[in-house]
Amino acid sequence: MFKKDFEIFDKKYIYLDSAASTQKPTSVIRGVSDFYMHSYANVHRGSCHLANLATTAYEAARQKVADFIHADSKQIIFTKGATEAINLVANGYRQILKPKDEVLVCIAEHHANFVPWQQACFATGAKFKTFNVKDDGSWDLDDFKKQLSSKTKIVAVAMISNVLGVIYPVLEIIKMAHKIGAKVIVDTAQSIAHLPINVTKMNCDYLVFSGHKIYGPTGIGVLYGKKSALNDLPPYQFGGDMIDVVQIQKTTFAPVPAKFEAGTPPIAEAVGLGLALDYITHVGWDKIMADEQKVFAYLIKKLKAIPDIQFVGNPDLKSGLVAFNIKGIHPDDLNLILAKEHVCVRVGHHCAMPIHTRFGIKQSLRASIGLYNDKKDIDAFIKALNKAIGFFK
Ligand code: PMP
Repeated sequence: MFKKDFEIFDKKYIYLDSAASTQKPTSVIRGVSDFYMHSYANVHRGSCHLANLATTAYEAARQKVADFIHADSKQIIFTKGATEAINLVANGYRQILKPKDEVLVCIAEHHANFVPWQQACFATGAKFKTFNVKDDGSWDLDDFKKQLSSKTKIVAVAMISNVLGVIYPVLEIIKMAHKIGAKVIVDTAQSIAHLPINVTKMNCDYLVFSGHKIYGPTGIGVLYGKKSALNDLPPYQFGGDMIDVVQIQKTTFAPVPAKFEAGTPPIAEAVGLGLALDYITHVGWDKIMADEQKVFAYLIKKLKAIPDIQFVGNPDLKSGLVAFNIKGIHPDDLNLILAKEHVCVRVGHHCAMPIHTRFGIKQSLRASIGLYNDKKDIDAFIKALNKAIGFFK
């Protein structure tokens, strides 16, 4: 029903790859182009009319993000994506971690929330630890409790894994981590377009997401942080806009968020993200969640009926995305036929090798939905998938 808001669906695509990136509503595409045509200049630097328009639009986008996740605008840092936001924090921890410290991440993390922490540990001598998931894909909380220790300085977890699709009980582990004095960074790259977020209630120390996964442009992401957690972090990059006073002897830095936004930021992209959040607010969370639940339940029901399907984790625990294999057929082969049928899904390790290894597989085929998908898309996908299976069996 929302397909009409997305011009790309004038063509015959069956787009089931929103976990990789969402399509953009016309309001975002036109809004970004309007911004370039009527209000564009660099931000924070000039005092001409256009510079003021651009700065006002950029800072209004920051306020929209803050309102969207129930934060203060001073706690919102624009980055180029979730990956850069996590690297910003992990890079800061290279100056915070000591050899006896520990970092704890879930085995199901996307490489973006795994490798930066692993490398920060390698650089500092801190211990990099993982906690497991159960066979159904849910967190193994007993293992989490076992791995969490008084030495843990930071816990890094996704709210929804991009392979398992389970909505994880982040509040529970934030409480446990805080009891022993560890900070928690929550990667909401996969949940941001599907569930409302309230960082104040969640009480996380840091939270990240990418604009392109919530109907916004590429090249824009968000890092939220508690004020003290952001103040504790050293700057990530150095250059224009992030300084207070520069002298030959020393440089002092601007307050947060400018301290973390060196150089010309992704201005139009931030404006586009603000418009994407306006679009979500306009459609409404109740409608989005109710519609997506129906379409996703239908997808799972149809997939379960396929003989030889092997889900990664329990299909009944998933939401928004599902990864699976068909016994005896390489997912790349299936995808060749699906692509010919104009079906867009994702095949591979989905930038999450450790969780595939955990399940004893190398890759999977992943289908994921957005607010524009309907049951007709699912029917077309299942038809194409059955055709592909028939070709190889
Ligand atoms: N975390 C998760 C769970 C993801 O799914 C992704 C993207 N697939 C990322 C982080 C990284 O996002 P980006 O590539 O937009 O930086």
